[in-house]
Amino acid sequence: MVMVRISDDALAIACGADAVADAFARAGATVERVSSWGMQWLEPLVEIDGKGFGPATADDVAAILDGSSPLGIGVIAEHPFIAKQQRLTFARAGKTRPTELADYEATGGWKGLARAREIGAEATVEEVVASGLRGRGGAGFPTGIKWRTVAAAVADQKYIVCNADEGDSATFADRMLMEGDPYCLIEGMAIAGLATGATKGYIYVRSEYPHAIAKLEEAIRRSAHLVAPFVLEVRVGAGAYVCGEETSLLNSLEGKRGEVRAKPPIPALVGLFGKPTIVNNVLSLAAVPYILAKGAKAYADYGMGRSRGTMPIQLAGNIKHGGLYETAFGITLGQLVNEIGGGTDDGSPVKAAQVGGPLGAYLHPDQFDIPFDYEAYAAVDALIGHGGITVFGEGADMAGMARFAMEFCAAESCGKCTPCRIGSVRGKELIDRIMARVPRQRDTLEGLPQMHNAPTAPRSLEDEIVLLEDLCETMKFGSLCALGGFTPYPVMSALKHWPEDFGARQSLPEAAE
Ligand code: SF4
Repeated sequence: MVMVRISDDALAIACGADAVADAFARAGATVERVSSWGMQWLEPLVEIDGKGFGPATADDVAAILDGSSPLGIGVIAEHPFIAKQQRLTFARAGKTRPTELADYEATGGWKGLARAREIGAEATVEEVVASGLRGRGGAGFPTGIKWRTVAAAVADQKYIVCNADEGDSATFADRMLMEGDPYCLIEGMAIAGLATGATKGYIYVRSEYPHAIAKLEEAIRRSAHLVAPFVLEVRVGAGAYVCGEETSLLNSLEGKRGEVRAKPPIPALVGLFGKPTIVNNVLSLAAVPYILAKGAKAYADYGMGRSRGTMPIQLAGNIKHGGLYETAFGITLGQLVNEIGGGTDDGSPVKAAQVGGPLGAYLHPDQFDIPFDYEAYAAVDALIGHGGITVFGEGADMAGMARFAMEFCAAESCGKCTPCRIGSVRGKELIDRIMARVPRQRDTLEGLPQMHNAPTAPRSLEDEIVLLEDLCETMKFGSLCALGGFTPYPVMSALKHWPEDFGARQSLPEAAE
């Protein structure tokens, strides 16, 4: 009997994987539901004896089985998109049944936890420090240093909190990991617990991920005896972007409004319920089993500069080959977008790529030689963030995208600080006026006699742009957290690289006349 493997990842299901699986079963094949390889443009991807066919529909089943289908892509593991990757965190992607303990164990599972138990807490922390692993959620803070702080804290209770509130545009690596390899995350959290003395862990998952929640809950139930005395629970977020910020997430976990806490104190010392807490992203924790099983050096041998190891990069937007691409730091954006991603899906020239979610800078093709590295991106006022890349073709309106950043910030602001709460609303209004070429007129208040210092002439387009730059500076340096602080990145980069979209270029000759 033919064995057919089809992913049960949410994206594959959304593309019709269940119907394809049913059709194969009706045709007499044995169907195994596995994790996704991450080649999303090929989903539903069907695997028979290592060879792939995709994207498949139920109507393609007969031809795939009789060997006449034109959808064949050859051996999946040898496909250039897969073969050139360096998959450490996603080593099991496409290969295992997500909640089958036997599959996890047969592919090296639990070896990291076993080694941590063998070498003890202190050596485990130092192994993570030596690996150079940095927070994959966006901040890039050294994971091992955070662990050291929590390990050194004296408390009757400590917590491990996994931030799975994956809300950035173009990001899906957390979801893929939780759906496709949940034991890897569970093992990473158990190692973190052992290393720091925490006995309780929470995975804070966004409610938009029902498949991930179900898989995690099942995996936690099945593996409870293997990670004991460490205990894990899933908590479902209610859908606020700001709850991806660690202190806001902790408030939400405690049942409070998702509002950012001022730091200090840092969560490593005063975190969940006032206790020392590690808050790490899914990908940071999922990298840990490899580090412990293979040793810090094996991980640190990948990468460049202070960006060590690999990064699961997510390619999305107007791109031909969207999907998950895990590789060592140092790869350029041009390689990712043009070579691996195949350029735009609509065939138009690439106009921009936004890296790091809705608050990441828009990078111009002239900048595509920048290596994927935390410091190299920071040097050009850009972010790596959670590794999501959204590609835009020539039809993109960059002034509209800048407006979107302000609008997004206004909608998602927790309201705690003024630069973000008020600045984002004013920023959106300002960009609206710039785009409509309607400079701001004096309002009623400014016309009152006592307002003699108020400008009397309407602002020119140039004045409005200067004001927008000024507002961005205030938000960048005056906001309490990254939501308000990073919103200027997409706005300023769009203004810098595509001034014509804001009307600036057209306005200059008029001003000269
Ligand atoms: S920057 Fe925005 S989201 Fe962050 S604390 Fe201030 S108001 Fe809240």
